[in-house]
Amino acid sequence: MMRMGVDLGGTKIELVALADDGSELFRKRVPTPKNYPDTLNAIVGLVAQAEAQTQQRGSVGVGIPGVVSPLTGLVKNSNSTWINGHPLDKDLSELLNREVKVANDANCFAVSEATDGAAEGKSVVFGVIIGTGCGGGLAVNGKVHGGGNGIGGEWGHNPLPWMTPDEFNSTSCFCGNHDCIETFISGTGWVRDFRRAGGEADSGIQISQMMSEGHPLATQAFVRYVDRLARALAHLINMLDPDVIVLGGGVSNIDAIYQELPKLLPKYVLGRECDTVVVKNKFGASSGVRGAAWLWTK
Ligand SMILES: [Zn+2]
Repeated sequence: MMRMGVDLGGTKIELVALADDGSELFRKRVPTPKNYPDTLNAIVGLVAQAEAQTQQRGSVGVGIPGVVSPLTGLVKNSNSTWINGHPLDKDLSELLNREVKVANDANCFAVSEATDGAAEGKSVVFGVIIGTGCGGGLAVNGKVHGGGNGIGGEWGHNPLPWMTPDEFNSTSCFCGNHDCIETFISGTGWVRDFRRAGGEADSGIQISQMMSEGHPLATQAFVRYVDRLARALAHLINMLDPDVIVLGGGVSNIDAIYQELPKLLPKYVLGRECDTVVVKNKFGASSGVRGAAWLWTK
């Protein structure tokens, strides 16, 4: 059966069609219209093109920056604000004349990596996407665990664990709370920390490059960053003890993180031992759209 995944982002909508073995039959992206009716039409148009070109009918899954609330049936928490308050899954199901599954994009990332990616075949997989923000997603036996409120995996908006006095009450978050994990662990948070210490960079990748060139402020910022990441992940391991944690987003490309985390995690996990595997994703920027297709489980 052909499976189509749609990644509904703030700037582009991408569709990929997968064969049963995960190979790509079709892929196309279009700019995201900034209103709801045109967004629906763009998705319907992409599905029609994929089916015309492949001469197959397929299932449809959609990853969104937000979630369909199980309580109201309406999209919430999306920074693409024009889809908030709409029953996206119902509207697409009617327009496409089949059931359409919609899930949070970080959960799609976890499903993708659990299905045929870096955590293939693992039972409990936690995905962390670290870019300008910091998203978490949870897949159990290859399926999204969204939870009764639809916020399963939203670990980034718990407070940073075991804060030091200078971390406490230092940073407000867009969500309305302060000192959220996201405010320290996101690329944006890392750059803010570096600037507070007197450094200048545009991204976490740039800070790590400066570190490899021997820049002392960058080295200190990396040490603080990876320790905060270790605390945040240890908190997660204490609650969930996943089989694998898969990192995605720009920061996941920094090799030094994978060298340092295994040394730091046992400092914070209960019992002072930890061999949880933390790995880089397999499918990079394509993982979200592939995971949307795999919402229809293999
Ligand atoms: Zn927050």
